[in-house]
Amino acid sequence: MEGKKCSMLSPAVSAHTNQLTQLDTNRPVVGSGPVLFGLDAGALAACMLEIGEPVWRGRQLAEAMYRQWVTDLGAVTTLPKPLRGRMVAAGWTIGRPRIVQTFVSNDGTERYLVEGQILDSQTVETVWMPDGDGGEAGDGSGADVPRQSNHESGKEWRRATVCVSSQVGCAVNCQFCLTAKLGLQRNLTAGEIAGQVVAVLDKHVVEIGKERVNLVFMGMGEPLLNYDNWMAAVRLLAKEVGISPQRMTVSTSGVVPGIERLAGDPPEVRPKLAISLNAPNDEIRSEIMPINRKWPIEAVLDAVRKVRLRPRERITFEYVLLGGVTDQPEHAHQVAGLVRRSGLPVKVNLIAWNPGPGIAYQMPQPEAVERFQRVLAADGVPVYLRRPRGRDIFAACGQLKRTTEGAK
Ligand code: SF4
Repeated sequence: MEGKKCSMLSPAVSAHTNQLTQLDTNRPVVGSGPVLFGLDAGALAACMLEIGEPVWRGRQLAEAMYRQWVTDLGAVTTLPKPLRGRMVAAGWTIGRPRIVQTFVSNDGTERYLVEGQILDSQTVETVWMPDGDGGEAGDGSGADVPRQSNHESGKEWRRATVCVSSQVGCAVNCQFCLTAKLGLQRNLTAGEIAGQVVAVLDKHVVEIGKERVNLVFMGMGEPLLNYDNWMAAVRLLAKEVGISPQRMTVSTSGVVPGIERLAGDPPEVRPKLAISLNAPNDEIRSEIMPINRKWPIEAVLDAVRKVRLRPRERITFEYVLLGGVTDQPEHAHQVAGLVRRSGLPVKVNLIAWNPGPGIAYQMPQPEAVERFQRVLAADGVPVYLRRPRGRDIFAACGQLKRTTEGAK
């Protein structure tokens, strides 16, 4: 509680900034008064203190919002009724993000449009993948946990992955990605990032601690270009919601200052790190990911080397295979060489590119994907092929563009 401020999101929201763009977010927020979701117990205690209440009321509020998933301030029964009435009358609100539309894939994946805390008619996308995101046994994704139904609750999954957005749209402009087509609209608040997770866990009645949930910050946006809000959400999810950062993975397109900040943060709040590599060399990478012109591969690897890894932890290289562009055997040999030279414990996740309207790339041939995997494996690189999830509802990697196609 020491040093904590009651800095509730209120109609006078301060501007969020990132390294590429300064955005004005002085926009009205959900409710007429202060919004609580997104504050940790310490900040909530400071808020209670400001209205003359004991600090432990902050813990009660945190328990209600982050453990019991109460969404209505009037229903926080641990607070005395007159106090609740006073807070509601003053316009205080929990303001947790809401799922406003759901799309269900044939493979069980669900994609949601989620409305945030700032009323600008922008929604973001969150994806629920029962039985994980297509990881492989031993790769740390939990894919080695056998699938069986959870008889007590009647659920058909034993582990799940939630893919979370960090911005509305994205400024990075990867040429193979549909989200890039939106451009950057704005950063999400910490409450909007953590709120996607809690809204989805609530929908699926997940029992934290009993059921295994992984989080991947791989939805819309570049998390490390919204570092403060993203990291505040990670801390909230770890401390208040109870999800270990070791069950979280953040994927970056290679934002060097962000990776360096991550390296400086305490390891106990650091999610695992994935680098969205996608190309075997700077020449191709700069073509398909313009950010590489600012921070080329070697600069990214230098930053990654500063991150203190946990025992047995590996850095993931995500590699989207574009037919004829990045999927040739010589590319695989170059990637193997890059892994070797990096001196880092690395695993490579291969993802066959998911097609999207208005993007001219080709899907790789299945034989090319297999061959690529074989070359890397023969070179001793741990390599896994990600099963595409939710392609039919535009929920797969690089497909998030708030399309309303695929509704069931
Ligand atoms: S792949 Fe990720 S970083 Fe690149 S444009 Fe899409 S959302 Fe942004």
